[in-house]
Amino acid sequence: MNILVTGTPGTGKTTLCQRLSEQLHLNYLHFGSFARNIPVLQDLWNEQMQCYDLDDEAENMIMDEMEPLMEQGRCIVEHHDARPFPERWFGLVILLRSSTEQLFDRLSSRQYSQEKVQENIQAEIFNICKEQAEESYSPSIILELQSNTLDDFNSNVDLIQQWLSSHQFQ
Ligand code: ADP
Ligand code: MN
Repeated sequence: MNILVTGTPGTGKTTLCQRLSEQLHLNYLHFGSFARNIPVLQDLWNEQMQCYDLDDEAENMIMDEMEPLMEQGRCIVEHHDARPFPERWFGLVILLRSSTEQLFDRLSSRQYSQEKVQENIQAEIFNICKEQAEESYSPSIILELQSNTLDDFNSNVDLIQQWLSSHQFQ
């Protein structure tokens, strides 16, 4: 079984993936890192928005790289968009949510343009990542978790561990 961690940029995906991969000995995979490591995809980097504008062909190249790792299992994958992956890859989808205030502070401290900060905050308000997760996976495997405070973080880690053990994840 593999785990997908999704949510608007700044909701805490990397922080959570790092903790869970250490604690549960999982292989942490970042979708964006695959894009960075495929030379022909570098032309698709959007400097203004600080992201790749990936078309279907580009996404499929990344899926091909990921497939053998996903088949081994015990991977935890970070990506803000739940749609590109085959549904069968994931047994648990963690959807992180944060308040506008938290996102504003976290995204403003990055090298993001005001436009990108605003775009991501709007995406969170309009539940874009949530809808993408819900159109891709069964509600029974989506865990939607608040990610505003350190207390949230610690209780999320506990809750995820409980979920995994009650679903026979070794
Ligand atoms: P993402 O990978 O979703 O873009 P990050 O994990 O990089 O998000 O987190 C963005 C910022 O928010 C980091 O500075 C991180 O330390 C902080 N952060 C993450 N989760 C929490 C939380 N639950 N409470 C407070 N701060 C958090
Ligand atoms: Mn991240």
